[in-house]
Amino acid sequence: MKEELISYWKTYGVIRDKDVLQAFKDVPRENFVPEKFADQAYIDSPLPIAGGQTISQPSTVMVMTEELKVKTGQKILEVGTGSGYQAAILSKLVGSKGKVVSTEIVLELVDFARKNLERSGIENVEVIEHDGSLGYEKEAPYDRIIITAACPKIPEPLIKQLKNGGILLGPVGSILRGQEMIRITKKDDELKEEILGEFLFVPLRGKHGFKEK
Ligand code: SAH
Repeated sequence: MKEELISYWKTYGVIRDKDVLQAFKDVPRENFVPEKFADQAYIDSPLPIAGGQTISQPSTVMVMTEELKVKTGQKILEVGTGSGYQAAILSKLVGSKGKVVSTEIVLELVDFARKNLERSGIENVEVIEHDGSLGYEKEAPYDRIIITAACPKIPEPLIKQLKNGGILLGPVGSILRGQEMIRITKKDDELKEEILGEFLFVPLRGKHGFKEK
């Protein structure tokens, strides 16, 4: 089933980058979904995890990974660890000299992700219980920032914590009607913004997220 997804991506040119495909091969997604869904780990669909959250569908994770243009040795900030799967994929691309700092606001998921990463033998991801809409000042600045929850707008602290030459990626828009994937490239302290397509994510919470009623 894993091979079928890879050949589907290759056939339709969804994912072209060899290193990104290799990262998908190297991370056991079955370790990142709840046990009862283990047999569905390679279906191209999101799956429920604790706290009413979801692990994104494989195509979404891989497209975002490719669009982030990760290089070895980089330091990446993720907002929304969830299962830890996206962080695990990124950790393969930055390699042992790089690092992924991943923030999660739901404590139960912090524990779930740490366990999943550990049993997958991944050591260069640090999961932090934190409101990631504030970024994570302590480890800033970052070469890459990835937001894996829907934002009303890109949180200002994240733009501040992005290195010059860095890339930030995240879905911006409405919870109900969906979001557009925005890629921001910071160059000479100016921001270039691109729109990459439509997606549907669970809402970002916290200070710069959607207000809860
Ligand atoms: N990247 C995840 C999927 C993320 S789903 C994976 O690979 O499985 C979005 C996640 O963002 C949820 O787990 C949700 O709890 C988390 N989240 C929402 N608002 C947040 C915030 N302000 N800071 C950190 N995490 C947040």
